[in-house]
Amino acid sequence: ATVPNGYSHDVVETFKAKWEQDTTDLPRLQVIDEEKKFTEEMPDYMKTWGLGEAGFNYNVVAVFGSQSTGKSTLLNRLFGTSFDIMSEVQRKQTTKGIWMSRGRGMHVLIMDVEGTDGRERGEDQDFERKSALFSIATSEVIILNLWEHQVGLYQGANMGLLKTVFEVNLQLFQAHKGNEKTLLLFVIRDFVGATPLVNLSNTLQADLDKIWVGLSKPEGLEDCKITDYFDFMYTALPHKILVPEKFDDEVSKLRLRFIDPQHPNFVFQPHYHKRVPADGLHIYAGGIWDKIQSNKDLDLPTQQELLAQYRCDEIANVALAAFTAKFIQYKRPIESGSVIENLGPEMLEARNVAIKAFDKDASRYHAEVYKRKRLELLAKANTFLQTYYLGQLKNLHKKASGLFKDTLTQNIKSPNYDFLTAVQSARMAGDEYFLAGAKAILLPETDWTYEDEHAQLEADYEEVASKARADEVRKMEKSLEKMVQLEVNEPLSLLLNNANPGAWHKVVLIFHKAMDKGKETLIKQAKSFSSSDAELKESVINLERRSWQLLRKKIDEEMEDSRLLLKLRNRFEEKFRYDEHGLPRVWKPEDDIDGHFQTAREEALKLLPLFGNIDLSEDTDFVISSDDVCILFSLSYDFDFEASLTILSESKQADLTQRFKRESDAFYLEAKRSTVATTAK
Ligand code: GDP
Ligand code: MG
Repeated sequence: ATVPNGYSHDVVETFKAKWEQDTTDLPRLQVIDEEKKFTEEMPDYMKTWGLGEAGFNYNVVAVFGSQSTGKSTLLNRLFGTSFDIMSEVQRKQTTKGIWMSRGRGMHVLIMDVEGTDGRERGEDQDFERKSALFSIATSEVIILNLWEHQVGLYQGANMGLLKTVFEVNLQLFQAHKGNEKTLLLFVIRDFVGATPLVNLSNTLQADLDKIWVGLSKPEGLEDCKITDYFDFMYTALPHKILVPEKFDDEVSKLRLRFIDPQHPNFVFQPHYHKRVPADGLHIYAGGIWDKIQSNKDLDLPTQQELLAQYRCDEIANVALAAFTAKFIQYKRPIESGSVIENLGPEMLEARNVAIKAFDKDASRYHAEVYKRKRLELLAKANTFLQTYYLGQLKNLHKKASGLFKDTLTQNIKSPNYDFLTAVQSARMAGDEYFLAGAKAILLPETDWTYEDEHAQLEADYEEVASKARADEVRKMEKSLEKMVQLEVNEPLSLLLNNANPGAWHKVVLIFHKAMDKGKETLIKQAKSFSSSDAELKESVINLERRSWQLLRKKIDEEMEDSRLLLKLRNRFEEKFRYDEHGLPRVWKPEDDIDGHFQTAREEALKLLPLFGNIDLSEDTDFVISSDDVCILFSLSYDFDFEASLTILSESKQADLTQRFKRESDAFYLEAKRSTVATTAK
C-alpha cells in the first residue's frame, strides 16, 4: 500500500529539491529538560531557525508514541531534523524531555516528545500527562506513531496515552467547543499491507470512539463528540529496515502533506493554528508549562490574553524607547528658550513610527488587549510629548511677546502714528507668530490646547501696551509743556522788563493762549490713545499745573536778586537820568535834584510790590485746581496754586528796598557832583 495522494514524480522531486537546498542551521533545542525546566534559549533559537519575525507564518507539530517505535527516526527523515535515535546496538533510552527543531525547507516547528510512554516502564505517568497537555496546547498537529501490530490492542499502552490526550484536551478547551481543533495524524509503522489501511483505520477509529465514550466529561460537556475537538488522518509506512527504499519514497510523499498547501491532505489547516505570533511563542509556551508544572487550572483563552498583555507591553516599551530617544536632543534647547523648527511634524512622525512599530508585532495578539495597549502607548507617547509641547508653547509665547513689543516700539516711532492702530498691528504680528507656531505643534488625538497660553500672551500685550501708552502720553505731555514754555517765556521776559500795573493780566492772557493750543493737541491725541474723558481731564489739569510751574520758575529766574535790582535801576534811571522826552538830563544847579531823585526812586521801588505778588484782580476766574487728581499718566507732585502767587515775601521786599536805596544813593551823589563840576567851569 502507498500513501494516497495524486502526486506525480516531478512534483515530488521539486519539493524534495527545495527541501534539500535549505541550508539554514537547524540545531535542536531541549525545550523542557529532565528537571522539567522550561528553556530560556527559545528566542535565540527562533532567530537561528529564521522564525523570529515569522508572525503567524509557522506551524507546530508534535509526535507521540511508545518508546522505540521509530518516532525520532521518522521526524529526522520527514523534516530533516537531528533528534537523538536510540542506538540499535546499545538499545539505551534517549534523554527524557521535549525537544524542538525546525523542519528543513519549511516554517514548521517539530516537537519530539521523549518518554511519553510511561506506562510501559511503569513510571512517571505524571510527565506523560504534562507533556500531553503541553503538546496539545501548543501544536496544530499531533503525530501518533504506532506499529501495525499494536492496532486493535485496545488495552495497550497506546490507548492509555490516547485517553490522556483526550482528557487534557477537554480540560484545555472546555469553554471553546468546536472552536479549536487539533489534527491527530496516525502513522502506522512497519505496515505490511496484508490488512488494508482502511481496515486498520476503522479499527483505530472504533477504539477511539470507545475511549471517548468512556471518558468522564466535565459538566456541560457530557454530550460532546470526539469530532468536536479532533480531526483524524491515517497513513502507513513500510518497514524501514526491510524495504529502506520504499520507506524513503513514502516518507518523501508524506512530507508533501506538511509543505504543500495545495495537497489534498495538507495537514496545517488554518483553524488548527493556535494564533500565537512567533515572537511570543516562548512566552506562551513557557507560561503554559509554568501552569502545568504548578498544577494550576489551565485554559488557553486566558493564556492567550496573558501572553498578549505581556508581549504588547514588551513591544510597546521597545517602540517607546526608540521614540523617546529621538527627542533627547531637543530637551536643552527648549529649556533654554529656543523654538524648535519642525517640532510638530517630527513629533507626529515619531509617534506614527512608534505606533506603526507597535502595530506590526502587537496586532497579531488578542484583539482586545492589543487595542487597549495601543491606547496606552498613545497616551504614554502623548504624555511624553506634552512636555515638549508645553515647553515650545512657552517659548513661542515669550517670542511673540517680544515681537509685539518690538513692533509696537517700531510703530510708534513713525510720525503721526495712531496709538490704537499701532497696538493693533503689533498684536497681529505677535498673534500671527504665536498661533502659527502653536497650531504647528498641536497633534491630533490629544487633548492639548493653547488657549491658556494665548490668554496669558494677551495679558502680556495688555501690560506692554499700557506701559507704552503711559510713556507716550508722558512724552507728549512733556513736549506740550515745552511748547507752552516757548510760547510764554519771551513775552513774559518783555513784560517783566517793562512792568506796569496791567502786567499780570497780560501774563495770564499769554498763559491762556498757550494753554488753549496745548489743550487742542491733547484732545486730538486723546482719540489715538482712546483716552477716557476722565483721563483727558487729568491730562489737561496736569498740563496746566506743569506749565504754570514752569512759568513760575521763569518768573523766579527774572526775579533773581541781581536781575531784579537791574530792573529797579533801569526804572530809576529812566526817570532820573532821562527827561520826559527820553533825553539824558544835564543837571543845572537850579534843578531840583532832590525832588527828581525822590520821585525816580519811588517809581522804581513801586516795582517791588508789583513783582511781589501775581495780581489776579482782573482775572478773578483764573485758578488752577490744587485738588488731588488721580494721576494716571504723570508723576504726582505737590501743587499749591495760592502759594504760587506770592513771588517776593515782605521781608525780601524790605531787604531789596534797602539794597536798592544804597545803590541809588550813588546816582544821587554822582548827579550832585556833576553840577559842581559844571558850575566850576
Ligand atoms: P523512538 O524512541 O520512538 O524515538 O525511536 P527511535 O527513532 O529512537 O528508534 C528506535 C529504534 O527503532 C532504532 O534502533 C531504529 O533504528 C529503529 N527503527 C526506526 N525506524 C524503524 C522502522 O520503521 N521499523 C523498524 N522496525 N525499526 C525502526
Ligand atoms: Mg526518540
